[in-house]
Amino acid sequence: MHVRKNDTVQVIAGDDAGKKGKVLNIMTKNKRVIVEGISYIQKHVKRSEKNPQGGRMQKEAPISLSNVLVICQNKSCEKNGKGVRAKQKFLENGDKVRVCYKCGSEIIAPE
Ligand SMILES: [Zn+2]
Repeated sequence: MHVRKNDTVQVIAGDDAGKKGKVLNIMTKNKRVIVEGISYIQKHVKRSEKNPQGGRMQKEAPISLSNVLVICQNKSCEKNGKGVRAKQKFLENGDKVRVCYKCGSEIIAPE
């Protein structure tokens, strides 16, 4: 999986191409991801305790995992702040990390 929860990602296709947002949820099974502020849909909500008004609500719709790229955080990388393809890299201790394909710096998802 090249994307993790809380990553900042850039959308590369669709109506929101070019926009960035934080990954809120990943649906591994159908390879979809929910990104904050991306792909809003109108949703009708019934009146409930949580939404006493009911009515219409904006909600993010899942988008395809293949349409998002992680952002390189390395300031000296030419791709800094932009979506990059991530490579898998094994550390000496056996841990697997994601690195920017361009500069090789590790891509860390905030906790
Ligand atoms: Zn980089």
